[in-house]
Amino acid sequence: MNINQNYENLEQSYLFSTIAHKVNDFISKNPDKRVIRLGIGDVTLPLCKAVTDSLHKAVDEMGVQTTFRGYGPEQGYDFLRAAVQNYYKKRDVELELDEIFISDGAKSDLGNILDLFAQDNIVLVPDPVYPVYVDTNIMAGRKVIFANANGENCFLPMPDNRDADIIYICSPNNPTGAVYNKDQLKQWVDYALKQKAVILFDAAYECFVSDDTLPHSIYEIEGAKECAIEFCSLSKTAGFTGTRCGYTIVPKALGKLNKMWLRRQTTKFNGVPYIIQRGAEAVFTEEGQKEIKENINYYKENAKIISDTLKICNIWHVGGKHSPYIWLRCPNNMKSWEFFDYLLENAQVVGTPGAGFGKNGEGYFRLTSFGSRENTKEAMDRFKKLFQ
Ligand SMILES: *Cc1c(COP(=O)(O)O)cnc(C)c1O
Repeated sequence: MNINQNYENLEQSYLFSTIAHKVNDFISKNPDKRVIRLGIGDVTLPLCKAVTDSLHKAVDEMGVQTTFRGYGPEQGYDFLRAAVQNYYKKRDVELELDEIFISDGAKSDLGNILDLFAQDNIVLVPDPVYPVYVDTNIMAGRKVIFANANGENCFLPMPDNRDADIIYICSPNNPTGAVYNKDQLKQWVDYALKQKAVILFDAAYECFVSDDTLPHSIYEIEGAKECAIEFCSLSKTAGFTGTRCGYTIVPKALGKLNKMWLRRQTTKFNGVPYIIQRGAEAVFTEEGQKEIKENINYYKENAKIISDTLKICNIWHVGGKHSPYIWLRCPNNMKSWEFFDYLLENAQVVGTPGAGFGKNGEGYFRLTSFGSRENTKEAMDRFKKLFQ
């Protein structure tokens, strides 16, 4: 047996373990201080009522002979695929049911989709970035090149003249919160078509887009069905981080990829439990949409509180408007980890050092609006005391 040597090439991810270590260390030395965490990317609000009602009902169905369900279709039940189809239709994106694949979340599919592509493809990934894109390709032994996102391009890199075969785009972006407009995305679509490349579009934060002129889906761009696969998730949209459900769109206009993905999923994926799919279906009902919007607005209001405070403190930042993340430049030219320590020590606020997301993240810092209102306000009061 020979192991997959590519795993040796993975960089150790010390980001969240280092944060946890530093925070625990601080707390043990300062037991009387209250630490506020605006660092992790997990949601805090519970599932909405439409979802839990639907989950309960589905549980009961499973206990009755006539409504019990065993093995289901790996690619998802039609009732949920139809709900997703209808959701896209509201934005004038027409999808066929068999272009929609129900998943247990975007992370798994973002990794698994790589089964469909040869090893010698060149992968273009933005920097800073959600670490999964890079690590999954390193595991497969692919060459990764980076598109620099920085203050000059407002963290929205555009295509240049380099060759690439697989292109990752995450908009609204984690960690920066930056979002592409339609003209910018069109440039990426044109570039991908010219390169005969595929775009892997991560739409995990689409529901945070609050300006109707900004795209939620890459398929709002002409030509995208010929070059893009889209990944979405109910994790951030509807608090499904523990419940697990998402969807992936593989258009038939991409040629063989649609059939290949079906084959891959029916062979290697067991599908999402019926009960969970019923819960997910409820997200797309009128009631469900109304309830999740309330939750999203709660987070957006938190983001506004953070952004307004940073403005008062003259701290440069992007994001927060169409995203739960605020990406700030560390004051006084501090490095990311230096600022992390400074904030923990002086304000007991925990964020995520930008350097942990790539070399261009150095000197930046991510705050999340996924905390409670009370904690967000308290954290921002502490910011004002330090920086105003
Ligand atoms: C949270 C997140 C996801 C979704 O992850 P799930 O596996 O669906 O929970 C995907 N992409 C990005 C950039 C994320 O931040």
